[in-house]
Amino acid sequence: MNQTPKEVAVVGSGLVGSLLAIFLTRAGHRVTVFDRRPDIRTVEFSGRSINLAMSNRGWKALREAGIESEIRKIAIPLYQRAMHVVDRDDYTQKYGKQDEAIWSISRSVLNRRMIDLAEAAGVQFRFEEKVWDVDLPGAKLFTGESEKGEWEAYEFDLIFGCDGAFSRVRHKMQRRSRFNYSQDFIDVGYKELTIPPNPDGTHKLDKHSFHIWPRGRFMFIAMPNLDGSFTCTLFLPFEGEVSFEKIKTRDDARQFFQTHFPNIMPDIENLAEDFFRNPTSALVTIKCYPWTYWDKVALVGDSAHAVVPFFGQGMNAGFEDITQLNALMGEHGDDWELIFKRYQELRKPNGDAIAELSYQNFIEMSSLTADPSFLLQKKIEKHFAAQYPDKWIPAYSRVTFSDRPYTEALDMGRKQEAIMKEVMAMPDIASRWDSREVMDRILELIEVQQLQNT
Ligand SMILES: Cc1cc2nc3c(=O)[nH]c(=O)nc-3n(C[C@H](O)[C@H](O)[C@H](O)COP(=O)(O)OP(=O)(O)OC[C@H]3O[C@@H](n4cnc5c(N)ncnc54)[C@H](O)[C@@H]3O)c2cc1C
Repeated sequence: MNQTPKEVAVVGSGLVGSLLAIFLTRAGHRVTVFDRRPDIRTVEFSGRSINLAMSNRGWKALREAGIESEIRKIAIPLYQRAMHVVDRDDYTQKYGKQDEAIWSISRSVLNRRMIDLAEAAGVQFRFEEKVWDVDLPGAKLFTGESEKGEWEAYEFDLIFGCDGAFSRVRHKMQRRSRFNYSQDFIDVGYKELTIPPNPDGTHKLDKHSFHIWPRGRFMFIAMPNLDGSFTCTLFLPFEGEVSFEKIKTRDDARQFFQTHFPNIMPDIENLAEDFFRNPTSALVTIKCYPWTYWDKVALVGDSAHAVVPFFGQGMNAGFEDITQLNALMGEHGDDWELIFKRYQELRKPNGDAIAELSYQNFIEMSSLTADPSFLLQKKIEKHFAAQYPDKWIPAYSRVTFSDRPYTEALDMGRKQEAIMKEVMAMPDIASRWDSREVMDRILELIEVQQLQNT
């Protein structure tokens, strides 16, 4: 269904804002994007930016926007995890079937490309214009140099708040009665470091793997870049025995890596200097509701649902918001009130589900990986899944390689957990975990659940 062209403002030229702007422009609207930052295409690129894993949901949105092939050019497929563990040889785990991969992409390289593509599609960008206030019923934006200074007012038909986890647009909605909001920081922070390319430009580690050095409460990861380097992230508690607060000097930083990551330490560029030059950042889950104000304003991406990054889904979920909004625009034409109503009803449960799945993954990675019973459970699940791949699809595959709702992945994960609780309670499970009897018991429990659901 065609739509009557509208004057639309998108607040935020991040990944979600620039992609949404492309969709809206293609639908015939006149779109202006505001960002408080300078145009990142004109800012000298330090090379320091987080890397993101793009998976099925992200690619689907890019395909529908007609820019998938452009973005594939700046992404590297990762077919497996390479696990660098202590007291054992490194090993790899395939992500999925044959060619299933997640794709490593630099957030800033992607953002620059998306802004280029949006501009080529006809989107207007207004950089260095911070939005300070929003008049929700009037769909007006107020921008200016400072909160106390002179503001410029702009009037639109529709406003999309794509201004990230600490959204100003949401802030205005929060002041309304019956607006629910929560933010939860985890006690782990992160810091970026770099592994440079070999002198001949090649990668120092396998470039088609997601490299992980798991160490229980903390971990180090590395994702490849096109220039032969790896962007690495150290996830570490802020406080405690092994924590950011304990690393006070350059020597402490070297000692920390020498103790916990001795094999990769020599490859990290300017380790001690970068450790203190690069910020230590926090990780937060943000939930809120409603996501829309009548037919005037909608929150999309991190402004509506910021999640911790342990499932690699924040951007993917934001892109999926857009795919679904676009589908609703096609279905309901000019009825923006209905579009926004359906959008938040459809997406909110999925936003909550991916927040929960991401947090669960954080707990698994940070505490349960040291628990022998948890490790045994995972071993049984893997053994069963290898024998009956169509009967046991892990939550990771459901989230990463499908576009079924996140709520389904969460629900199936809970059902699998209930089955495994019974299996783990079987006598002598540790000594007969891979026996026919245990496999048959799982089959039986799956059948019981299926019968209960019919
Ligand atoms: C360490 C880490 C790893 C991650 N890994 C992954 C991953 O592997 N896969 C994945 O899918 N996701 C990942 N994510 C999540 C992903 O980065 C975010 O979900 C995504 O960037 C959100 O995009 P956004 O456009 O909604 O918000 P943002 O990227 O935060 O963009 C918001 C934009 O709004 C602008 N803005 C803010 N306030 C104003 C204002 N008042 N006026 C004007 N402009 C404003 C900002 O300048 C910014 O440009 C990760 C996140 C982190 C922190």
